[in-house]
Amino acid sequence: MVRDLALRINQDYRGKDPLLISVLNGSFIFSADLIRQLDFDPQISFTKLASYQGTSSTGNVDELIGLNQETEGRHILILEDIVDTGNTLEKLVGMLKKKKAASIETVALLFKSQVYKKDIPVKYYGKDIPNKFVVGYGLDYNERGRSLDEIYQIGER
Ligand code: 5GP
Repeated sequence: MVRDLALRINQDYRGKDPLLISVLNGSFIFSADLIRQLDFDPQISFTKLASYQGTSSTGNVDELIGLNQETEGRHILILEDIVDTGNTLEKLVGMLKKKKAASIETVALLFKSQVYKKDIPVKYYGKDIPNKFVVGYGLDYNERGRSLDEIYQIGER
């Protein structure tokens, strides 16, 4: 799955020197495996979306933390563990657009297309999965399970 994604990125981004932006926490294992399958030496930055309450009259303010890389004119590849409703992706892409990137595409390991309701295309994804909660390979369940080698669906009772 990761190898297939890497092959497509190698092809599509040859000579473009994309900037990879890995969205923490869940994407750390996927990102580590993906970059080692690329046939170029990419720049990678790690970011997190933080919500703060009570800092403005409109309520929550979302902010990108940790993104200290210059994005203007760069081809950006967002690395996501899983795209579900797309709320996170929408916020991220909105913020990155203001930073004048040359292009922005998303690489998601998993994609819940049945739940996804946004217009932003998820160009690269490893697997389309049903609307179930999964854990392992970086993905957590209450901050546990990230070290599992495989991806598991949480059991239903
Ligand atoms: P969205 O904003 O697209 O609804 O959700 C994206 C984020 O929610 C993911 O980056 C991930 O952190 C979390 N998430 C969504 N679905 C799952 C899931 O099935 N398992 C885990 N562990 N996290 C999920």
